[in-house]
Amino acid sequence: MHELSLAEEVIRLAGSEAISRNAISVSEITLEVGNLSGIDADAFEFALAILSENSIIDKSGIKIIRKKGTGICHSCGIEFEMEHRIDECPGCHSLPEEIKGGNEFRVVSMVVELDDSN
Ligand SMILES: [Zn+2]
Repeated sequence: MHELSLAEEVIRLAGSEAISRNAISVSEITLEVGNLSGIDADAFEFALAILSENSIIDKSGIKIIRKKGTGICHSCGIEFEMEHRIDECPGCHSLPEEIKGGNEFRVVSMVVELDDSN
């Protein structure tokens, strides 16, 4: 389950980001996961929830934005939502010429709490 190692990576990233900004904690972290990225967003969210315990993002609000891929049909030109990489055009059953979005896996934003005691 590579969602687990991705979650570890995100926590590591959040940790070094927090240190570089002199933050004491991370209050919110927002991530984007595309449905064609090969990452199971639910499994990832679950892994993150488990691994975040006692980590820098333990008390953070974790937001996962699920992005859907859109295919553009080569034959009839329509745009359609894709659940899987192999989805065909619902109109003419051609494979899409172009796939827009759905590959996302990134940290969109992070809100940190600064140590203002000094
Ligand atoms: Zn088509």
